[in-house]
Amino acid sequence: MDPEVKERIRALKGELVALRRDFHAHPELGFEEFRTASIVEEYLRQLGLATTRVAGTGVVATLEGGRPGPVLLLRADLDALPIQEANEVDYASTVDGVMHACGHDAHTAILLVAAKVLAGMREQLEGAVKFVFQPNEEINGALVMVRDGVLENPSVDAGFALHIWSQLPTGVVAATAGPVMGGMDVFHMTIHGQGGHTGFPEEARDPVIAAAAVVQTSQVVPTREISNLAPTTIMFGKIEGGTKSNIIPEEVRLEGTIRYLYDAGPEGPDHPVQRFQRVATSVCETYRCTVDFHFVRENLPLVNNPRMTKLARRAAERVVGEEHLTTMQTIASEDFSEFSSRVPCTYLFVGSGNAAKATDIPHHNPHFNIDEDALPVAVEVFVETVLEYFREEAARGPRASAYPNSNPEAAAVGT
Ligand SMILES: [Zn+2]
Ligand SMILES: [Zn+2]
Repeated sequence: MDPEVKERIRALKGELVALRRDFHAHPELGFEEFRTASIVEEYLRQLGLATTRVAGTGVVATLEGGRPGPVLLLRADLDALPIQEANEVDYASTVDGVMHACGHDAHTAILLVAAKVLAGMREQLEGAVKFVFQPNEEINGALVMVRDGVLENPSVDAGFALHIWSQLPTGVVAATAGPVMGGMDVFHMTIHGQGGHTGFPEEARDPVIAAAAVVQTSQVVPTREISNLAPTTIMFGKIEGGTKSNIIPEEVRLEGTIRYLYDAGPEGPDHPVQRFQRVATSVCETYRCTVDFHFVRENLPLVNNPRMTKLARRAAERVVGEEHLTTMQTIASEDFSEFSSRVPCTYLFVGSGNAAKATDIPHHNPHFNIDEDALPVAVEVFVETVLEYFREEAARGPRASAYPNSNPEAAAVGT
């Protein structure tokens, strides 16, 4: 990448680290990112950008380039987790039971500094960059932003985001076309039997043994009904029922997740959720019990657009070199899928793992921390990807619609 731009980013490392540590010390849970959002707004305003609020604590600002062109959305997430921090650092969480244990503190700092660098290059941008600071990534805040119109005004043509990743070494970037993170459905189910005495179970209908059989038998869905090349998991996180050792309870409640690392398509008999429901229902019938289900589609699978991935990979290669480029997938979920299912997007992972600094601990762990040397790398990846996107779009020739829209009537339709 342009050594001058790289130099400018490197010179901002102190600011990057200070921003990240400030967010880290003051974590806020999803949709409660009040302090974080106001710092983000203030920072963007100082860059000369007008900000709007979307989805409560979400902040959006659009940087118009010197020439018309497409609109590229860049996204960072703002929220922390309900975890008590175990790190003893001087920027440790000051909020009991709340911690930035996923790296969203870093994402916010990275995108702010990327906005500063891009604002300084405004004249050479052929299009617009829409900065999206999103609340509540951990519980699909993206969908709320989409419903509140984040993809409109101006209308977004493509999107890009990244996650700091402790399971990749610092200096390594993963760019992968196709599915990179899993879809997830959460289920709650209640198995109804008929209570009774454990001394004469023949007079009862036992939901406990039915629950045990559901846990076991539902595992045929990922292993016997769906190809092993289409990774699927059915996990039970909670099982609850009964009051005493010698009483057969009336009901047992189970909760869990169904994850899948492929585009499972619309609801239908082949979707893992319907398969699970069919198997669990028939198991309960076998045990003379009935069952109610409640499903919540929490995340769609995150599927990277091939063209967007190719260009982001080219950009990342210029940042870290080909030898530090890799691919990766994880069945964990990410709500950036709400954007990627609507406009062409790509989502990269930027390594922050460094055993010497104990930053190779998994995300969502109370000891999670970040190798801050990864921060400028991530800014460089953002900036270079933006430049590469506009370069490629310009090379593709004039567009039917360009931002800012020169036709006021067409612009009015978009509002
Ligand atoms: Zn997370
Ligand atoms: Zn995260």
